[in-house]
Amino acid sequence: LIVDNGTIITLDARRRTITDGCIVVTRGRIEAVGKSSEMRKLHHADRRIDASGKFVFPGLVNTHTHSFQALLKGLGDDKPYTDWFPQVTGPSAAKLTPDDCYIAALLTCIDAIRSGTTCILDFMYAHPCADLSDEIVQAFRKIGIRGILARGIIDTGEDSGALPEIVQDLQAALNDCERLFKTYNGLDDRIYVWIAPCSIWTVTRECIEASRILADKLKMHITSHVSEVPFERENSLRRFGMRDLEFMDRLGLTGPDMLAVHCVDVTRSDIAILGSKHVKVSHNPICNMYMSSGVAPVPQILRAGVTVSLGTDGAASNNNQDMIQTLKTTALLHKLNDAHDPAEITCEKVLEMATIDGARSLGLDAEIGSIEVGKRADIVIMDFLRANTTPVHYPASTLVYSASNANVETVIVNGGIVLENGRMLTVDEDSILKLGQEKAQALMYRAGIERFSNRSWRSIKH
Ligand SMILES: [Zn+2]
Repeated sequence: LIVDNGTIITLDARRRTITDGCIVVTRGRIEAVGKSSEMRKLHHADRRIDASGKFVFPGLVNTHTHSFQALLKGLGDDKPYTDWFPQVTGPSAAKLTPDDCYIAALLTCIDAIRSGTTCILDFMYAHPCADLSDEIVQAFRKIGIRGILARGIIDTGEDSGALPEIVQDLQAALNDCERLFKTYNGLDDRIYVWIAPCSIWTVTRECIEASRILADKLKMHITSHVSEVPFERENSLRRFGMRDLEFMDRLGLTGPDMLAVHCVDVTRSDIAILGSKHVKVSHNPICNMYMSSGVAPVPQILRAGVTVSLGTDGAASNNNQDMIQTLKTTALLHKLNDAHDPAEITCEKVLEMATIDGARSLGLDAEIGSIEVGKRADIVIMDFLRANTTPVHYPASTLVYSASNANVETVIVNGGIVLENGRMLTVDEDSILKLGQEKAQALMYRAGIERFSNRSWRSIKH
């Protein structure tokens, strides 16, 4: 496969932009990158994509979502986390079927790909029946996306709103995680399995300890929600006498193979732990704003030398999987700082967070995150010849501040074309959208939460 004549924003170590650029892909990997005029005579292609006038970026990396929540869009609006989970998301999670999870994961992946995402981490913490995680992996495979299944574990939390259907026996959950890892990790060169002790209020001390032991045994990465909302701090102080990250660190969970999600409510000493233990961070600004959680101190975390990537979080708290919206939101949110300094987070930094730093957060920076020889061909072609993105003066700015998913024209994962000229090639999108609406409706009634759909108009709060 050859992608020819485009402007390539490589995100390589020198952050080169190549005009009239050419990418040669062989067996899923990038074999050559350079000027089209020089490379045309050296390489022959079975398939050539003409990217004249187009802009070619590394695929975006979404390091945190929950795919099942694709069925819950709009039901949890305008609620604090302490209502949102027990009233909407928890009851729905308790009623999930294998079919729901498969369709929701397909929907999530299509939404992701349409916004230029080629790699997604699905943090699956709801296991009301067996083998729901397997459905997600099958959806990743069907769509053709690069997917990480983080097998979530909830082994307590009934007193704070975790329904008994989603609280699991710890050993059974660990066994399932090991099974998933041995069955799927490394499959198709694009499926990975992680372990995910869910969040401080849903796990026991034993769960945190056992997660680290299993991760070390299998050389598996770890992810967990960390300091998202004040409620977690209270829970952690009450049960363990210290903050959640501090407790996880004491038990040895922290390390370069851990991805801490949110880190909104972190102290200076928490940031020091992130830095000294080389923990990676997934920043989910839209979810944090949606839930009034607060603003994660991303500039301070970055200054501590920590790798920060971007996530959408689940569609129940976003309410889509659009990474391009996340790019702009990230850049804008951190301009609201005490110093009134718009340079705290630049468009270049945001683009790094969504590509090469995303890859680094997943331990995949040798494989993806930039357009370089030897890396896997995860590539997005953008058409900026549209009203929202014309004129283009600086492509990174155009993508972060002006673009929308309507500019995403073609998406390539592992050398395979998944979306071409705006059309999904791997699945029948229309039938999945129809099924998504049906599954969502049925789940809402099974969970007994239809009052949030048929709700009365709420305007100003007095
Ligand atoms: Zn989450």
